[in-house]
Amino acid sequence: MWNFETEPAFRDRLDWMAAFVREEIEPLDYLFPKDETYNVDNEALMAIMAPLKARVRDAGLWACHLPAELGGGGWGQLKLALMNEILGRSFFAPTVFGTAAPDTGNAEILAHFGNPAQKERYLKPLLDGDIVSCFSMTEPQGGADPKVFTARAVRDGDGWILQGAKWFASNARWAEFLIVMAVTDPEVSIYKGASMFLVPTQTAGVEFVRNAGMAFEQPEHGAHAYLRFNDVRLGNGDLLGNPGDAFRIAQTRLGGGRVHHAMRTVGLARRAFEAICERVQSRTTQGEVLAHKQMVQAEVADLWMEIEQFRLFVLQTAWKIDRFNDYKLVRQDIAAAKVLSERVMVSAARRAIHLHGALGVSNEMLFGEWLLWGYALGLADGPSEVHQITVAKEALGQVAPTDELFPSAHVPGGARRVAERYRRELALPGHRRGWLDRAG
Ligand SMILES: Cc1cc2nc3c(=O)[nH]c(=O)nc-3n(C[C@H](O)[C@H](O)[C@H](O)COP(=O)(O)OP(=O)(O)OC[C@H]3O[C@@H](n4cnc5c(N)ncnc54)[C@H](O)[C@@H]3O)c2cc1C
Repeated sequence: MWNFETEPAFRDRLDWMAAFVREEIEPLDYLFPKDETYNVDNEALMAIMAPLKARVRDAGLWACHLPAELGGGGWGQLKLALMNEILGRSFFAPTVFGTAAPDTGNAEILAHFGNPAQKERYLKPLLDGDIVSCFSMTEPQGGADPKVFTARAVRDGDGWILQGAKWFASNARWAEFLIVMAVTDPEVSIYKGASMFLVPTQTAGVEFVRNAGMAFEQPEHGAHAYLRFNDVRLGNGDLLGNPGDAFRIAQTRLGGGRVHHAMRTVGLARRAFEAICERVQSRTTQGEVLAHKQMVQAEVADLWMEIEQFRLFVLQTAWKIDRFNDYKLVRQDIAAAKVLSERVMVSAARRAIHLHGALGVSNEMLFGEWLLWGYALGLADGPSEVHQITVAKEALGQVAPTDELFPSAHVPGGARRVAERYRRELALPGHRRGWLDRAG
């Protein structure tokens, strides 16, 4: 059964969210840099966000990504997609609604793989939005190829010693704890020989070399840590899951995380689109508003089509996740949504910049940040090329090669194959392709 309608009761919730995000949360984008949303030491921002978070809780919409048993609404991915496309309009909205990455994914893996003590210590405050967390896998010498990872944890009595370096560990500077991937068995492939550790950020030996920022940010605002682990002593209770589980754990997290980014991208791209529509109907050149220029109309039309196609694809992906309840069965769709997120966001931000003229490239609009964010979407959680490979492999796996000299869509061969089936009909008069007589 196909249905594109939203139940009235849920529609009401979406309408409430949409108005709340526009009126109460989007203004925060004009007051604070986006990564500050994780800065638990920013008293001004925390004081503004606390009552907003309370209103979200009162509305029963806190942590809407979570299943009911973890305190969320248990809405499922399709409804979450409809909610996330609203929350994606502002970088602050996911924090106010308790659905901010990477904490959401980190909570998911703690819920799946954490022991009771780990859940008590980390999961509960994370779900309540009281602390921030960090997922640290990428290393300075390579992110897209885990085979080059060298951070190492070695057994030491009843614990472990962690050594090595990590790179671009988002929000580590504000995080209560880091989830760190380290090699524990170098004799086997990293996919079987890496383990995940929960490392409290204040542990002796955790060194912040520096915090890298995004292109426009001043060094003091960088949120992506270059970390060094200098003989960090960890207990057995700091191991998440079993030794060798790191990739199984990472996949649990990344599948959901990628599609949630895609859902939010719909929202931010739509916000850029709205800004374009307002501007081109307000700005006059050569005696008419920009919106009357056909080349401007083409930009508006193309972006609208890109966003709407993308949105339908993301909604279908979410629907499949709910339907099959197994990320592996939807991996092609999730990979495609990840690749499209970058393309759509870059396209939306680029057009917004261009159609706003000099104002568009200036630091008085947010479009430059959004453009860079679009490019970041093509890197975070793996570069687009790696996901294109997934899409292609899944597609190629659906079609067998042929041993024939000519492809199966070759017209002479096709005519030959069906000629026998329609022998009687083809004897009747009628125009037909000449290949039938000549097919050898
Ligand atoms: C905003 C942001 C936040 C991030 N947050 C985190 C975080 O919290 N924790 C964490 O661990 N990491 C994080 N990362 C790191 C991210 O996972 C890596 O950037 C990503 O995996 C790519 O690794 P790399 O940067 O080392 O690029 P490289 O591996 O050096 O790749 C560079 C380029 O080479 C090409 N390439 C790479 N592999 C292939 C291939 N197989 N086929 C074809 N071309 C290829 C692509 O063009 C790619 O962009 C974040 C990144 C960004 C941008």
